Amino acid sequence: MLQSEMKVDGNAIGGLLREIVVRCPDCDSVLLRIVHGRGRYWVDLTGTRCLEFAEG
Ligand SMILES: [Zn+2]
Repeated sequence: MLQSEMKVDGNAIGGLLREIVVRCPDCDSVLLRIVHGRGRYWVDLTGTRCLEFAEG
């Protein structure tokens, strides 16, 4: 339900915004959101305290 609400917001703001949502594989909470539209990217790190990337 939350995700559909966010899409409505995106459409209201700019029309053709594309949203990528990254969720935790364990608890399914939203870690970060990337929204692309109007030649810009917005990165929302609200749900992220720590990011870990594998080397190489
Ligand atoms: Zn989690």
